[in-house]
Amino acid sequence: MGKYYELTKPQVEKANKWIGEKGINRHKCPLCNFHGGMAVLSRLVEIKSLGGTLVYPYFVWICTNCSHQMFFNALSSEVVTKEDIHKNSPNWKDE
Ligand SMILES: [Zn+2]
Repeated sequence: MGKYYELTKPQVEKANKWIGEKGINRHKCPLCNFHGGMAVLSRLVEIKSLGGTLVYPYFVWICTNCSHQMFFNALSSEVVTKEDIHKNSPNWKDE
């Protein structure tokens, strides 16, 4: 059984706002051009380097039409801080 980090509603809103601030149309899929079906998933994902020594937290932006998924570094975008994702955070949930 694993654990996952669940973004709070304000953190999801922060991610959406951040996408918009980068000049990306946050309502339109850049792949299929579907409008109005984009969403930030509430679960953070980890992407590890080969060998697993470096781990980065990502938030996922998905298109509900074509299932295209885009991954953004949750730390460098400041959607979460290192303190937010500390192992004792209450946002860590059991799978
Ligand atoms: Zn799409």
